[in-house]
Amino acid sequence: MIIHLKETVNADQAAQLAEKTQAQHFRRNGQAILIISSSTKEVPDILQEYTDEYFVMVSDIQLASRTYQPATREVTINPGTTVGGNTNNTLMITGPCSIESWEQIVTCADMLKELGITTLRAGCFKPRTSPYSFQGLGMEGLKMLAQIREEYGFKIITEVRDATHIEAVIEYADIVQVGAKAMYDQGILRTCGEAQKPVLLKRHFGATLQEFVQAAEFVLSGGNEQVMLCERGIRTFETKTRFTLDLCGVSYLKEHINLPVILDTSHAMGYAYGVPDLTRACVAMGVDGLLIETHPNPSEAKSDAAQQLNLNEFRELYQSVQSIAQAVGRTVI
Ligand code: PEP
Ligand code: MN
Repeated sequence: MIIHLKETVNADQAAQLAEKTQAQHFRRNGQAILIISSSTKEVPDILQEYTDEYFVMVSDIQLASRTYQPATREVTINPGTTVGGNTNNTLMITGPCSIESWEQIVTCADMLKELGITTLRAGCFKPRTSPYSFQGLGMEGLKMLAQIREEYGFKIITEVRDATHIEAVIEYADIVQVGAKAMYDQGILRTCGEAQKPVLLKRHFGATLQEFVQAAEFVLSGGNEQVMLCERGIRTFETKTRFTLDLCGVSYLKEHINLPVILDTSHAMGYAYGVPDLTRACVAMGVDGLLIETHPNPSEAKSDAAQQLNLNEFRELYQSVQSIAQAVGRTVI
């Protein structure tokens, strides 16, 4: 149950009421919002006199539900890029899996600039499956990305792997990416809930849609309502492709969930050859954003070599999605 308290209830009172009712709470525009387990179907007696409005919810998908807030939430990425809300924007996020060198990232950045794309991705703290693989450039990479932002005016998205560097990622990035493996890390989710930065939350490859959106609830209920969901493929019995992109799940999210949905075709497919077709299919579905890995020389990439598009392949794909986006009333930004 979500309860909007009267605006006369101050922060201390709201905190006390939340504690007494075992609720999560945060403030939105001077109003306290309490969220109690969805098994509660009536406003607790103690809250009656303070309640302005309440919403009975069928499951613990609460703040993210269109039952609560029907319109897709607007997420604003500094400086001035918006997805969701009344926009029909499809945000193009592209760049290498990992930042590997200054030269590599500048080559990618030059291509983005040439195409008019303004959101650059690159991982610095990589959540690798093996401890013996390249783990990312860490802080050195983060500083290079900050330098790129300075020089190109791009928005930067990079991922947080664990608690050791979460504050640094929040400080440096314009969008904080919580990777698939970190989706279940409640320390990361709660810290993101307190951050003033948009969060791109990836679906764990073993998570149901319910679990995925409930992970987003950890961020939302902390007071950070700038959350985007990212479908990046789930694990199925199929082994010919890296994962299985759950487009049925995307339809579910579009219908029932009020958060913008970003599609990562690179990690789902795992092989560059399939990424353009899959991406075009996603654009035709009318999604809020795309995440595509690009690398100046994919075969030499230090992570995810098989799935990254080279820059010419990406240019071609980028041209081809424009008319598809237009046909479904969207603009790729
Ligand atoms: C990535 O974006 O490079 C990445 C590691 O993705 P995921 O968390 O989806 O595996
Ligand atoms: Mn990757």
